Amino acid sequence: MKSFVDEVVATPGGENIRACIQCGVCTGSCPVANEMEYPPREIIAMIRAGMRNEVLSSNSMWYCLSCYMCTVRCPRGIKPTEIAHTLECLANQQGFRVKGTRTPAMYRSFVSSIKGNGRVHELGMMFRYYMTTNPLAALKMLPVGLKLFLRHRMPLIPKRVKGKEDLSKLIQKFAEIRGSE
Ligand code: SF4
Ligand code: SF4
Repeated sequence: MKSFVDEVVATPGGENIRACIQCGVCTGSCPVANEMEYPPREIIAMIRAGMRNEVLSSNSMWYCLSCYMCTVRCPRGIKPTEIAHTLECLANQQGFRVKGTRTPAMYRSFVSSIKGNGRVHELGMMFRYYMTTNPLAALKMLPVGLKLFLRHRMPLIPKRVKGKEDLSKLIQKFAEIRGSE
């Protein structure tokens, strides 16, 4: 099995992680660093120290807004934004569940909708999201959902893209490749 840092280095955007000089410009530029369990500079240090469990069970990457401030300012050409996306994928693949954020549940609902229809079915996506997080919170959204429905912005029946079968084969092939890595 690859070391944690090698796993990150092998992903797009993770290549330069060993060049980090721990200057902290990324953390100083990050608008949500205070909300993260470990801000970007610390996450990079922890990856290099092999702290897989601590990193993948943290909320840090799920709070990333993809604003790219850290990436454009890093003096060593490191891409903390891409690393955050990589960590989200690894956490999901390796079954880590994060407390204190519902973002992973939203991502899973989104992906499930894409897999099923080839595009987002808003009603189905939000139904799954609320059922897996807080079903009672869905009640508060009913008035908004009704307005969207009446304006034909939230259809009851999902519309599938053309070539959905080809898309399913593509997703299946991708999963096989990821599984064999
Ligand atoms: S700005 Fe770049 S070099 Fe500095 S700590 Fe962040 S990732 Fe490392
Ligand atoms: S891209 Fe993410 S980690 Fe980087 S500064 Fe923006 S919010 Fe912070």
